Amino acid sequence: MSISGGIWKAIERGEALKCEAIQIFTKNQLQWFGKKLTALDVEMFYSEWKKSNIKKIVAHTSYLINLASPDRVNYEKSITALIEEVKRCDELGIPYLVMHPGSHKGKGERWGIRRIADALKIVLEDTSGTSTRILLETTSGQGNNIGHRLDHLAEIMSLVGKEDRLGVCIDTAHIFASGYDISTEHGYRNTMKYFNRIIGVSFLFAFHLNDSASPLGSKLDRHAHIGKGFIGEKAFSLILNDENFKGIPMILETPKEGNWDTINLATLRKLRGY
Ligand code: ZN
Ligand code: MN
Ligand code: MN
Repeated sequence: MSISGGIWKAIERGEALKCEAIQIFTKNQLQWFGKKLTALDVEMFYSEWKKSNIKKIVAHTSYLINLASPDRVNYEKSITALIEEVKRCDELGIPYLVMHPGSHKGKGERWGIRRIADALKIVLEDTSGTSTRILLETTSGQGNNIGHRLDHLAEIMSLVGKEDRLGVCIDTAHIFASGYDISTEHGYRNTMKYFNRIIGVSFLFAFHLNDSASPLGSKLDRHAHIGKGFIGEKAFSLILNDENFKGIPMILETPKEGNWDTINLATLRKLRGY
């Protein structure tokens, strides 16, 4: 949900669509650093949230942050920016901050994984007084992005330690494009079994529910409306009705066009069956 006009406006926008969970950027996602939140921003955000039926709010980091950047200046700026984002979430009472692990820009995955883990250690150390959890998002594997295999995320988490401050967000479009076939019941169960084995289902704190406009294993990050892509409705019905994921925020990141939010939500509610 957009925060244009004030950060609390995202809550009104979510309410209008009867959302139970929303995702926001806590600042302009195309800028490194945001204007400091005022006391009024924070107060309005809390009071609107309390009045609403929205249970879970998730934040997403700026797309500029790259914790695997080989460039020292960019790397350090990314660390500083992420620290700021964690602190903003903490001020707003937002429990989860989703981020893309990072792009190694040709340095290799092993190198990238270590670089990300080193950065996260610094960030979590610097924000040790806060309780916001950083969620590493599964990625499609486009470019040199880390996170297109679940073992990347498992390894970063084990290098960092700090189990109380880290978790995972599964993006259905990304995980499918990266090669995990969640479109069939068999494939879905295998993927989740594997997830549980190498990461642990208790570390899954959010879903991004997007269909994929690019095929299985294509490594292309292209979101589609629910049921209109290569994944199809079945996977969403399995996730929505999976006992393991009750109460976990599930966020649409489908294209913001026309009244598609309403249509996609109606599809998901139908699949949830209650
Ligand atoms: Zn994302
Ligand atoms: Mn996503
Ligand atoms: Mn995406």
